[in-house]
Amino acid sequence: MRSSIRQAWTSLDAEATGPRACEVEACGRPTRYGKAACSDHVDQLPYYAAVLQAARAYEAEVLWLAGACPLTTPPAQLVAGLVAADVRTVIRAHGCRTPARIAVELDLPIEAVLAVVVALQVLGEARLVRQRMVRGDRALSRSFVELVDDRESAARADAA
Ligand SMILES: [Zn+2]
Repeated sequence: MRSSIRQAWTSLDAEATGPRACEVEACGRPTRYGKAACSDHVDQLPYYAAVLQAARAYEAEVLWLAGACPLTTPPAQLVAGLVAADVRTVIRAHGCRTPARIAVELDLPIEAVLAVVVALQVLGEARLVRQRMVRGDRALSRSFVELVDDRESAARADAA
């Protein structure tokens, strides 16, 4: 086991340090850092294409969410993608957050975050907690999104 790891590492290392020619079409130009393609052809590598495709899919999902009406779109559809997974991760990692703060942290349009938050609420995965705070002589009220604890929802299911 250990020797096979070392073998793999050594061959990776040899690949990384040895001279390598661009594998795209009949280019053959030397590559940098042991990559399989030169800087002119790096965008034709399968890995690059996969990363680009994933980025485009995420962008398309964000645009779709930002334009979706959370009242008429099935909530399960709104929370099925990677954007909702990111929203859940932020709330899980930092505790309750306002939708605006989540949007800033994930660099997403507020409309996309609100669509996800409304859907999470409808599905019982999250709730809004209103908090009043006093700033100077003004009383403000803000809504924070909080995930409904799994144990909490299990206890409610048991009680029902
Ligand atoms: Zn090339």
